[in-house]
Amino acid sequence: MSTPILQLTSLPPTKHNNTEPPPRIEAASTLALESLPHLISLIPKCTSLRELKQIQAHTIKTHLQNDTNVLTKLINFCTSNPTTASMEHAHHLFDKIPQPDIFLFNSLARGYARSDDPFKAIILFSRVLCSGLLPDDYTFSSLLKACSRVKALQEGKQLHCLAFKLGVSDNMYVSPTLINMYTACDDIDAAKRVFGKIDEPCVVAYNAIITSCARKSQPTEALALFRELQEAGLKPTYVTMLVVLSSCALLGALDLGRWIHEYVKKYGFDQYVKVNTALIDMYSKCGSLDDAVKVFRSMDRRDTQAWSAMIVAYATHGHGSQAMSLLEEMKKEKVQPDEITFLGILYACSHNGLVEEGYEYFRSMTHEYGIVPSIKHYGCMVDLLGRAGRLDEAYKFIDELPIKPTPILWRTLLSACSSHGNVEMGKQVMQRISELDDSHGGDYVLLSNLCARSGRWDDVSHLRRMMIDKGAGKIPGCSSIEVNNVVHEFFSGDGVHFTSSVLHHALDELVKELKLAGYVPDTSLVFHAGMEDEEKEMILRYHSEKLAITFGLLNTPPGTTIRVVKNLRVCVDCHNAAKFISLIFGRQIILRDVQRFHHFKDGKCSCGEYW
Ligand code: ZN
Ligand code: ZN
Repeated sequence: MSTPILQLTSLPPTKHNNTEPPPRIEAASTLALESLPHLISLIPKCTSLRELKQIQAHTIKTHLQNDTNVLTKLINFCTSNPTTASMEHAHHLFDKIPQPDIFLFNSLARGYARSDDPFKAIILFSRVLCSGLLPDDYTFSSLLKACSRVKALQEGKQLHCLAFKLGVSDNMYVSPTLINMYTACDDIDAAKRVFGKIDEPCVVAYNAIITSCARKSQPTEALALFRELQEAGLKPTYVTMLVVLSSCALLGALDLGRWIHEYVKKYGFDQYVKVNTALIDMYSKCGSLDDAVKVFRSMDRRDTQAWSAMIVAYATHGHGSQAMSLLEEMKKEKVQPDEITFLGILYACSHNGLVEEGYEYFRSMTHEYGIVPSIKHYGCMVDLLGRAGRLDEAYKFIDELPIKPTPILWRTLLSACSSHGNVEMGKQVMQRISELDDSHGGDYVLLSNLCARSGRWDDVSHLRRMMIDKGAGKIPGCSSIEVNNVVHEFFSGDGVHFTSSVLHHALDELVKELKLAGYVPDTSLVFHAGMEDEEKEMILRYHSEKLAITFGLLNTPPGTTIRVVKNLRVCVDCHNAAKFISLIFGRQIILRDVQRFHHFKDGKCSCGEYW
């Protein structure tokens, strides 16, 4: 939200300025008054809004409808499980109260903050301020939650300011919601400032800032904060464990992940299905499918998320048939698959070339389970067809989608064109991409590599010019490796930014050895027209994944598995080099790129070149 639509910063008047007389209250009979406690006790027992309205009708008949206790209970019932209808009803009741107190408003704000229309809480608050009510810490925590959900940064800042004026901004209920609000609005620096101002942060504040770091892809900071939390003598909650595990997963830090797993067991967090699911995800993303399976099999309760996590794990590790048989097992146990389950299954199909099965699952997802496909499911289908070389069919599939295709869908097809060497289709697809978004440097690189491999140098230089004209940037490649509990990151540099000359030298020596074994650098991939082959080879040589693997070779004992995580797709040349390294040095290399896992062993990769 660019401009604030509300002005909340002015301090409210301290006295009630409501001069309207209270509405005339019909006298309730003594009998009715006697039945009041019973009536009130019935309200929380209602199972639907309909039942609630029946009780309300009874209060009208007995002239008890304006009793504050009754109204409060009615409103609380409506806001405890907020639906559009119940919130409308609560708001209507609230409007009937001549001088509502802050507790009633808090109840309404809490309901709205969790409803489908959280912004209504903020709108209503401006009215409450005018009536002279003073907000308390509960008010702020609900309103800030509402701001987080609609990413209303300006309103959130105004609330922060008001909370500060009223001296509750450092409150243990308010500060974590402030951190969450700034995180949701992508202002991570502000979130960190709020955290920094807390004298003795409680575990809820820690959870908020750790989540904030993890969500913004700063897993190293998230883990450092986790250590700080422990040093402060605080006991983490299961929410902390979920975030910490997801940070390990993001980093691919297996040893650290294993340590956290021990911690989870020691403190009994393994009773939570969600924590176990996070463990499955962590082990899978850190390249240890066996451990993921062990966790999954040891669970005594499994919900849809747990099954899905295991299915996705099998799929990303290239075990398509296990993923599918797990889905069958899941159905037998009467657990309902959801959209993530099917993402995993479609992914498994696409990485195992199972086109017909993929179509069948896609159909059953919509027809049997009534799941509306998201853009990600469509992406899987395009990937499935593209990988199998059915490019025309994939093109038609995107063209006939019921929703507007995103550039990512076309990009998936572009990369399929590239791996199948179809320049004509590649150009057509590029045209479609540029109609939607032409700022993505990777597209030009992909198409230009495709043209380069077919020797179409005119096209290559044309694309290079276009890329410069449009100022399209390319995301730098980054690979990380964990050695002795420390995660080291390497960036692909055009031969300039070497982290250390020792590593640089070792990599040069390594490439010499690889060449003796038959490795030939694939310089056709380098996107620089008019550059000498030797120069191109240098650019390829210092790709981040090669740097990380070399670092692993240098710093781990012989025979240790090398685990590397890359932020982009692994390039053909690094893939080839990794195969040679696994053969010559007798090392297993597990490389996780943005798409999938590659397990290199004895000169071969588990992906079977299907990626
Ligand atoms: Zn590479
Ligand atoms: Zn591979």
